[in-house]
Amino acid sequence: MAAEKATTKHKYVYGFAEGNKDLKDLLGGKGANLAEMTNLGLPVPPGFIITTEACKAYLATGAEPDGLAEQVATHLAALESAMGKRLGDPADPLLVSVRSGAKFSMPGMMETVLNVGLNDESVAGLARQASDGGPGSGDRFAWDSYRRLIQMFGKTVCDVPGEEFEHALDDAKRAKGTTNDLDLDADDLRALVGAYKKIFAKHTGREFPQPPREQLDLAVRAVFESWNAERAVLYRRQERIPADLGTAVNIVAMVFGNLGPDSGTGVAFTRDPATGNQGIYGDYLANAQGEDVVAGIRNTVPLQELERIDKRSYDELLRNMATLEGHYRDLCDIEFTIERGKLWMLQTRVGKRTAAAAFNIANHLVDEGMIDLDEALHRVNGAQLAQLMFPRFDLSGSPEVVTTGVGASPGAAVGRVVFTSARAVELAGQGERVILVRRETNPDDLPGMIAAQGILTARGGKTSHAAVVARGMGKTCLCGADNLDVDVKAGRFTVGGHVVNEGDIVSIDGTSGCLYLGEVPVRPSEVVQYFEGSVDPATSTDPLVVAVHRIIGHADEVRRLRVRTNADTGEDAARARRFGAEGIGLCRTEHMFLGDRRELVERLILARTESERNEALDALLPLQRADFVEIFREMDGLPVTVRLIDPPLHEFLPSLEELAVHVAVAQERGEDPGKDQALLAAVRRMHEQNPMLGLRGVRLGLVIPGLFAMQVRAITEAAAQLVAEGRDPRPEIMVPLVGAVQELETVRVEAEKIISEVTREHAVEVLIGTMIEVPRAALTAGQIAEAAEFFSFGTNDLTQMAWGFSRDDVEGAFFWRYLELGIFGISPFESLDRDGVGRLVRIAVDEGRAARPGLKIGVCGEHGGDPESVHFFHEVGLDYVSCSPFRVPVARLEAGRAVIESSGSDSR
Ligand code: ADP
Ligand code: MG
Ligand code: MG
Repeated sequence: MAAEKATTKHKYVYGFAEGNKDLKDLLGGKGANLAEMTNLGLPVPPGFIITTEACKAYLATGAEPDGLAEQVATHLAALESAMGKRLGDPADPLLVSVRSGAKFSMPGMMETVLNVGLNDESVAGLARQASDGGPGSGDRFAWDSYRRLIQMFGKTVCDVPGEEFEHALDDAKRAKGTTNDLDLDADDLRALVGAYKKIFAKHTGREFPQPPREQLDLAVRAVFESWNAERAVLYRRQERIPADLGTAVNIVAMVFGNLGPDSGTGVAFTRDPATGNQGIYGDYLANAQGEDVVAGIRNTVPLQELERIDKRSYDELLRNMATLEGHYRDLCDIEFTIERGKLWMLQTRVGKRTAAAAFNIANHLVDEGMIDLDEALHRVNGAQLAQLMFPRFDLSGSPEVVTTGVGASPGAAVGRVVFTSARAVELAGQGERVILVRRETNPDDLPGMIAAQGILTARGGKTSHAAVVARGMGKTCLCGADNLDVDVKAGRFTVGGHVVNEGDIVSIDGTSGCLYLGEVPVRPSEVVQYFEGSVDPATSTDPLVVAVHRIIGHADEVRRLRVRTNADTGEDAARARRFGAEGIGLCRTEHMFLGDRRELVERLILARTESERNEALDALLPLQRADFVEIFREMDGLPVTVRLIDPPLHEFLPSLEELAVHVAVAQERGEDPGKDQALLAAVRRMHEQNPMLGLRGVRLGLVIPGLFAMQVRAITEAAAQLVAEGRDPRPEIMVPLVGAVQELETVRVEAEKIISEVTREHAVEVLIGTMIEVPRAALTAGQIAEAAEFFSFGTNDLTQMAWGFSRDDVEGAFFWRYLELGIFGISPFESLDRDGVGRLVRIAVDEGRAARPGLKIGVCGEHGGDPESVHFFHEVGLDYVSCSPFRVPVARLEAGRAVIESSGSDSR
């Protein structure tokens, strides 16, 4: 009864004509698109799709769900009648491919088994059917197809080590005195099939299965199981692909590109995926089956050559490509096969592309009237824009690429090769630019990584220690470079016949993953020149500049989030303004206590009387006022949020070791150590076990009398001065590290007194607000809002304190491991942890606004420039994000995309 119900209720198998491109969840990407092409009337070999639901049911119970077997039988029968052949028929066999196809394509999943249905009997039938004249002319083809089946089936379905088959193939070629597969004749291949079967039996303990339906069922089951293959699981964790999607299985009638010179196989793109230019791009390989193209056994020819080889198929392919582009309204990539002059379409999908191509294609499609600007904005993203803003190598001199690896952290870095962290630090200290080269890095390499321009490793990928740490630091990194042999002891590495010694110069591209020897010149990207204002989009002939200008212009029109910048100086403020910043969200004031002002800070700390302390503060006041004047002037008319001093004061004093040595040396010589003695005592007194959780932020302001007051006065006086000049300064004073409303109230009372005193003559509006960066502040936001005119989330500290770890200590120590294990999909310092830290943000927004309607709320951690995080901040209703000047355009773009995506105008 139950089984019967399941059969009628669950449809596990879809013919191609029953699906469409929007059913990717159910039919996988490959299947949904095969269905779509079928319904467009394109020549797709007939076939059917087993759904992801069948896969999920299999994985849950360990058995094929009820009804699946019959539904497969029904669809197989339909396929057989469409083709006029039966699967594995000894006289004239139908063969099929069994192809995995999840919603997202995934390395580590089972790939494809071609030629299913061949066995000891049907191989003869296939040979007869394939012969195009003389007896035996189809033999070679048939035995080659059979040996491919045993090889692919053995390897992917039964886990037989692939090398064993390759060795047997090599042996056969060696015996024949050739290196080319095509020199093996039918007899050689028949013998090879015998050898392959022995290998199969040795590893599986059984004979290669002869019944065609059994071959089919085993292959389907193997596809299901490959969903949980170790590599696939790991990949999903890292890419944050849900683990419960399952994969579909496509069963497609075989067509043969290896039937002679009038057959072949190829790939095509409807536009250039590298540049986005219109044109014909692709490769073709005559007399071959699909996997030969990938395996690189023979050289392919450019697709244009097909026009000469087979004009009719070529013209038809071009028509089909135009149909697909018009239909998908996007770049498509395509796999096709020609069997004796007949074109077959085997796969299509919206194609992957470079960052530049993404912008160019979106812009072209708007011009062609295929999509509107909302859709164009949806089709590009901030990560791509960021890529276009990294400095470039000027490759006009065609430098040789000596090897490539994983572009793990983008940028273009040039420097002298060093092999140890210590040497990197030493040379960098002498003003040299260095590239740290390691087999792989570990936490001991951290100082060298900081000192280097870039990092090059021989091992590891995007989640290796080197990659994670470099990305965290925004440092260029090329990981896992091929054939890079690093000999740290000898102080050299070799790569492809080149020997590179310590001190030699290399250039690494962390975007493309290319390594060059010698110095390749670096230049700012065109897109940065555009943002800087040195390239005019109205007259530019660079299509990329035109595309970026148009699309980011649209983002600015639709976005609701404002975008500010983190800038501490007038110069940074000016640059950020050119990049489109609409104010400063975080102006740090630490640097205003450094340089030649250190001496004043020392006096402040050592002051024994109120008047000594006031003297030091009075000396600092005019200097800081001048700093603020410069910043407010650059940001005239726009808000500037100034954070009062945040770090522990001992950070402004010389180090304990240094002072101890000075004092000891002086005493040894019988000299008076003078103020060093007092400083040493102060440093000892102020030493903290956990400075991150120590005397800093508002705590400092409440403990050191007059410190915050001096800053408030400097800010307000600077603003008043500008008002007197007829300008429009908009200062916002931000108190860091508040955890309780009482802290903020205490600061506010004192600040308001100063503000009203200073502004008696020139009216300036000065807002007072706080950072929300201590979890307690988020949890008591309703109370804190009573005393705050604005909130700004310091998401770096909020992340540290929510997780209970300090960024500087953990990023190099164990983050790589956490990423590897999938505990993090991405570092919570790179992209906001929505579930934990994000929840604190939501609580603070809701309770803050409930207590004070219209409360202005922003974010000033670097998350403000992270694409994913920007979408989150839009979603929870912040007023603005703030990020470093270079990320401002990224944030503008993503703030626009967030609107389009949340309004669901995604029409694809
Ligand atoms: P991938 O996902 O790795 O591209 P595919 O399932 O597309 O794997 O198959 C691998 C190769 O086999 C491709 O070149 C494809 O075109 C070819 N192929 C798949 N099915 C068939 C078929 N029914 N007839 C001929 N070639 C096929
Ligand atoms: Mg494919
Ligand atoms: Mg902070």
